[in-house]
Amino acid sequence: MKKEIDSEKIKKAARMFIEAVGDDPNRADLVETPDRVARMCCELFEGMRCTNDEIAEMFGKCFEYSKSNDLVIVKDIDIFSFCEHHIALMYNMKCHVGYIPNGKVIGLSKIARICDMAAKRLQLQERICADIAEIIQKACGTEDVIVVVEGEHSCMTARGIRARGAKTRTAAIRGMFDTDHELRKEFYSLIKE
Ligand SMILES: [Zn+2]
Repeated sequence: MKKEIDSEKIKKAARMFIEAVGDDPNRADLVETPDRVARMCCELFEGMRCTNDEIAEMFGKCFEYSKSNDLVIVKDIDIFSFCEHHIALMYNMKCHVGYIPNGKVIGLSKIARICDMAAKRLQLQERICADIAEIIQKACGTEDVIVVVEGEHSCMTARGIRARGAKTRTAAIRGMFDTDHELRKEFYSLIKE
């Protein structure tokens, strides 16, 4: 486990932020805000405290499974994250994970937890996919993993060009999913259903 999130520093930063945008941190309705922000950040950035190895260790409980070459898919896992360029919310995010077991399978709810933890960091959507793929590879002992993430970025939809509804889709494609086009097609058609 990495060190805890520094709540005191977040509180100070939140007070300064309130001041900088032109409000008064001592205004009655804002007095508690820095404290709330700090508590919220501990939850929203939970994944910052762990490395990918640690997440694989924490949620990597697997069960023996002898049939190899079976495709396992978990789709439509809800996640959210914050883009590291603007600290802006990435929302309406769906994560789809597929893998080929190599003698063992991971608990399905654990896949959702892994996605959640990988997203709860200052992130890039591309890196969320890569992190999840790496953690699943480590937890399941398989090279063959595919992760697709779709999401909207408030730094695009709420400011600048205001590309409302613009969805970004990214993928991490590893092992057999990279080399076997039929397998990849099968995954994409199954997540569309
Ligand atoms: Zn951004």
